[in-house]
Amino acid sequence: MMRVRFAPSPTGQLHVGNARTALFNWLLSHGHEGIFILRIEDTDAERSTKESEASILEDVRWLGLEWDEGPDIGGAHGPYRQSERLHLYTSYANELVGGGHAYYCFCSPQKLESDRKSDLAAGRPPRYHGTCRALPPEEVHRKLEAGEKPVIRFKVPERVDVTFQDLVRGDVTFNTEVIGDPILVRSDGRPAYNFAVVVDDALMEITHVIRGEDHISNTPRQVLLYRALGFTTPKFAHLALVMGPDHTPLSKRHGATSVSEFRERGYLPEALTNCLALIGWSPRTDAGSAGTTEELLPLAELARRFALENVGHSAGVFDPEKLAWMNRHYMKASAPSRIAAESSRYFQARGFIRRKSDAALAYIESILAMAVGSVDRLEEIPDRVAFLFAYDARAAIARPDVVEVLHESGARDVIAALADVIATPLLDRDAFRAVASKVKEKTGMKGRALFHPIRVALTGESGGPELDLAVPAMDRGAALPPDSGVAKIMSAAERARAFAGAVATHDS
Ligand code: GLU
Repeated sequence: MMRVRFAPSPTGQLHVGNARTALFNWLLSHGHEGIFILRIEDTDAERSTKESEASILEDVRWLGLEWDEGPDIGGAHGPYRQSERLHLYTSYANELVGGGHAYYCFCSPQKLESDRKSDLAAGRPPRYHGTCRALPPEEVHRKLEAGEKPVIRFKVPERVDVTFQDLVRGDVTFNTEVIGDPILVRSDGRPAYNFAVVVDDALMEITHVIRGEDHISNTPRQVLLYRALGFTTPKFAHLALVMGPDHTPLSKRHGATSVSEFRERGYLPEALTNCLALIGWSPRTDAGSAGTTEELLPLAELARRFALENVGHSAGVFDPEKLAWMNRHYMKASAPSRIAAESSRYFQARGFIRRKSDAALAYIESILAMAVGSVDRLEEIPDRVAFLFAYDARAAIARPDVVEVLHESGARDVIAALADVIATPLLDRDAFRAVASKVKEKTGMKGRALFHPIRVALTGESGGPELDLAVPAMDRGAALPPDSGVAKIMSAAERARAFAGAVATHDS
């Protein structure tokens, strides 16, 4: 049974690079009926926070990467927070000390610092000098009795090659010459990452460790620890880092980097997972579709096709343009009721709806056709239909684009005629067309000269969605009861009169 894990440290928001690591673990386990575990690596008490843990869990879940075992749902290999597993690390550390694989180190910070300086001065990479490696047992005993608080260090075998199999990079070999004896347990009893991760991965029966390549130099230390503890070594896969469009590691300089920022901005989770999956991996095209690049793959389809063999070992680029393109696709492909629900908070933020009532959601759903085809993100939807909620005739006639339309010949006649003939609510395209015909008859204007002034009068803008959709949307909105949850919307007739009035006042 394949068992994989995502093991974030709760020290901030979930970065998209880490989200990709979670995704690759999830995809692999789902393609193999495996188990996906979420483990919180919170032994760094100063930097770990509960808020960060909660937000990471929320983001992973939002991405659709549900876990089978984890801190909130438990499982047979728990607990799933390292801070709740300290007794396990202590017991394995004692076992290593007892077996001669680890030892107490009493070196002071000053001594370590001066060793480091002398290494650097001699042009050597700094590493622990092994001072306490061979302390006589009586001396160790005496120091412990005297209340000294040592660290526990791993006794790394000298000058041996450590080779591990990496499913992305092939065999990787490090010589222990470059590895100083790492700390396993700090003087306050907290385990170091390299130690806790081995104890946990072994006890949680992890079969495949898939993580960022920033951990590759840790792996030989971990492999040696598996051996010393008599555990089976899992398979490893180190994923190349995610780069920005300029080929430097993706960071704040490139804009949004955390999953929650992308969520805030109105990307759909399947667009983000689709986009992240294609960084460093590409689907093998199915037989019959040879040569076509099928890039739009929702999560379930990604899981069906994902294979570690097809993960490249060179860094991949995160392309915001591609994400926007994918998001447009998934917004169009989604049920309008879902897009209405997902975008409702942006309408609320703008004051366009007051509550997410059924009526408000239904109204948003009914106006989406005017927006969804022309935006990249959910957050941009309210702006496309703002004319419905924030109509102001006086402000409109001061806008340069509207002024330009008002200067077109016959425009004022159209506006006056419109205010005159418009009466009953225009609830569909035909009702609106009938009014437009009457204005045409009265003024002799047609085409652009007819519809341009009508548009500025009713929407307050010179551009925007089709009037055939926009006008009925106004009148449907105006017909909503005051307690519907939707902010007040002016009817087409009210707009026509207000606009004609504003133009007349301005002219006089
Ligand atoms: N807590 C480590 C990190 O967030 C996990 C590394 C690993 O997967 O082994 O980088």
